Amino acid sequence: MSERSDNIVILGAGLVGSLQALLLAQQGYRVRVYDKLPDIRKQAMSAGRSINLALASRGRHALEQAGVLEKAESLLIPMRGRMLHNPQGEQTLQPYGSRESEAIYSVSRAGLVSLLRDEAEATGRVAFYFEHHCDSLDFAENHCQFSHRDADIHIEFDYMLACDGAGSVTRQQMQQHSDNATTFSSELLDHAYKELYLPPDKNGDFQLDKNALHVWPRDDYMMIGLPNPGGDFTLTLFMPKTGPVSFESIDNESALHDLFDAQFADIKALIPNLEGDYFNNPTGKLGTVRCEQWYQNNVLLLGDAAHAVVPFHAQGMNCGFEDCVAVMEALENSNHDWSGLFKTVQMARQNNANAIADMSLENYVEMRAAVNDPKFHLKKRIAFA
Ligand code: FAD
Repeated sequence: MSERSDNIVILGAGLVGSLQALLLAQQGYRVRVYDKLPDIRKQAMSAGRSINLALASRGRHALEQAGVLEKAESLLIPMRGRMLHNPQGEQTLQPYGSRESEAIYSVSRAGLVSLLRDEAEATGRVAFYFEHHCDSLDFAENHCQFSHRDADIHIEFDYMLACDGAGSVTRQQMQQHSDNATTFSSELLDHAYKELYLPPDKNGDFQLDKNALHVWPRDDYMMIGLPNPGGDFTLTLFMPKTGPVSFESIDNESALHDLFDAQFADIKALIPNLEGDYFNNPTGKLGTVRCEQWYQNNVLLLGDAAHAVVPFHAQGMNCGFEDCVAVMEALENSNHDWSGLFKTVQMARQNNANAIADMSLENYVEMRAAVNDPKFHLKKRIAFA
């Protein structure tokens, strides 16, 4: 493998930044990756932030391109359909397809990102710098300023791939430096989420069918559950921020118990620390980010930084992984000429990202409400026939 001389910096060692670093290193690039957080391989992530995710075929394809799908398999639990739970506790499986192979896969965020970082480091071409907070960027001079503990650090780059997530400081700075202030839009959903923990039983076994994505659809709100390799499930309760059943109204133990007794009775007894989880775990925000322009000078936005979506299609990470593949395809097609590369990537990805953003918003209504309508199942059968 020939070494390439470009000075590449990736901002953000999340799922997208870590995969992008690996893919570039495999093509001979030396890459420095900076992240404001400590390394999850050494310090556990705080509770409450999407512990696990659903990996779909777009994401699997990207992992395959990076040669890590086989290693990732041990982290994956196939989910072959939605298991709908009604308020009476009856369960109905809605398969994703007629073949067993038609599945999405539950994967731990920490497990997957650790694998990608290990593989990137193993190339010998990627260096990670944790606890480096990017404070500002200079798009004209190709440098950025980090704070690391008490020190200010100045970094120069030829090209930067900014994978710094939905709240991207890069995107905010691009907006400030852009002549067109409407280049980016960010819409917060009026619903939020909270994670709850369903442990394994006393024998270490799953307490629900592990090969399904569990859904408790309740029209205006819903809960979902994804399995983890340890026999536990991560449950995520999605509710409006305000209104009759909302994070605002469920603000005391008695209201919480009333809600779970009426709507989630089949699962309530399986959540040993319901009050602790609900009142101590953070309430997560959900939003959609759309960008008209994904790059400025030598800095390109990727992943959630360019196109955060609400999680109801389970496609945020998958779509970000596809961005990484698009970067590599564009590099290959241009014979590794970076001029014009960022425009090519934006052209290849932007419409798809916007379409996924729309579908993700629509799917919230499907998952929490439409699946409760018997006509919906009939329509789906006709649609897939
Ligand atoms: P992130 O994962 O947010 O990583 C950004 C990184 O940048 C972080 O490590 C952060 O520390 C670092 N960073 C940020 N700012 C700075 C700074 N100033 N300086 C230095 N470092 C910085 N997607 C799916 O595909 N399937 C799912 O099932 C799914 N479920 C989800 C469930 C929930 C509840 C949520 C909220 C999201 C879900 N997603 C899912 C979406 C998925 O989490 C994101 O799309 C994915 O994490 C995006 O990866 P990323 O690397 O672009 O950003």
